[in-house]
Amino acid sequence: MRPLHVYPDATIIEPDVPRRSRLYNLAPRAVGTPLGEALASYGLRLAEAHSLPFGALIAEEVAPLMSSAARRPAEVGEILASGAASMVIGELGRRWCGTLSALTTVALEPLTLLKWEEVLSRRHLVHESLRFCPECLDAFGAEPYEPLAWSLRRVTACPVHARMLVDRCPACGLRQRSIRYRAVPGACRGCRAPLRTATPGGPAPDWDRWSSASLSGLVSASGASRPTAAELPRAIEAAIQATGGSRTRLANLIGLSSTGAVALWLSGSIRPSVDILMRVCAVGKWDLAAFLDGRLVGVGWAPDPADIPSRPKRREIDWSRLTRQADRALRTDGVVPSVPALAARLGVSESSLEASAPKLVARAVAARRTWIGRQATARRDGARAIIDEAVASLVRDGVAPSARRVQTALPKPLSLREPALKEAWIAAMARNGLGACPRGPACGRRPTTT
Ligand SMILES: [Zn+2]
Ligand SMILES: [Zn+2]
Repeated sequence: MRPLHVYPDATIIEPDVPRRSRLYNLAPRAVGTPLGEALASYGLRLAEAHSLPFGALIAEEVAPLMSSAARRPAEVGEILASGAASMVIGELGRRWCGTLSALTTVALEPLTLLKWEEVLSRRHLVHESLRFCPECLDAFGAEPYEPLAWSLRRVTACPVHARMLVDRCPACGLRQRSIRYRAVPGACRGCRAPLRTATPGGPAPDWDRWSSASLSGLVSASGASRPTAAELPRAIEAAIQATGGSRTRLANLIGLSSTGAVALWLSGSIRPSVDILMRVCAVGKWDLAAFLDGRLVGVGWAPDPADIPSRPKRREIDWSRLTRQADRALRTDGVVPSVPALAARLGVSESSLEASAPKLVARAVAARRTWIGRQATARRDGARAIIDEAVASLVRDGVAPSARRVQTALPKPLSLREPALKEAWIAAMARNGLGACPRGPACGRRPTTT
């Protein structure tokens, strides 16, 4: 046997292996710029990189870490239905961002507005459809992405090209949504046509340029520290001082008729909407991101006060005319509309319909209920005729009209498990001289032919 060879001591250096991630740690695009990528777009690109539909990526990989098995289908549905809103800000946004960050080991908060959560009002913040700049998409090249700014309601113009954003597919005309089960960034959510081929929007008016640039500023500043709720009243107080020292003056400058709202903002009990904040910032030519952080920082350019559109006035609604129109809609021989459908047809919101025309709403509910009842009766009558016919024809062929055989004759949503239809089946058998079941008329056992 050969003697064992003794080697000199060696120092083992462990190789520098980066932390493994469950999903690809795709790099987000353009973070820290006004065209920084949206979390929704990142999710779409991630799904594409894994050759999965986006909806499948959420359902299979993200949702199991976010919620219990029982809540999961509802939550996946909620994410897909709420579109970009669930991925920009709010409780769902935070959980979605945290989970996706953990799965990819990429810090994804800058792809949201979570940083501004304590100071930014969520009212009218996110748009339900996705607007886009075809020129930007063209510039993004072969791997397009969608900036966070495009999903914000008040971003109506491209901050780079100063043209109005567009929202419809150049090929099929579909209005775009940020996320869909099978969405791909830069492509139509319906027909997959490249959105960069759309005709760019017209030149943006000053107010659109201002509001879009202000909000894009929040996107590019979405990295560092988080402003707290105390900062905003401080900035508003500073704005009052800078515009002459009176609440009334500031209220007038931004188009409010009273100072009640200003008092509430100062107390911190409500947050001004994004629209109001942009008006305040336009008045003093201040940077919106710095304002939300409690500071007044001047910017080089702001629209002329005369170009600031006046706040939309509360619409006067002619209720007596709408009531006549609604009554006509409810007396129809066709489909009687539900209350939401009726409100949509009248061009008012459901809540204002309920508040201003409660009697009309009650009538609409009753009419819809009657119509649903009539539909159910008609449907059952139709089903009875089919059952009679099926039983008679099976008996003619000398086959027992069992529940299973009669069921195959019924169109899809109708079922013999429905008590009324089961009774109809038993009655049809009795008419064809088939013995009554000894267990009672509805025991469900297969009857025997006599
Ligand atoms: Zn652009
Ligand atoms: Zn299309």
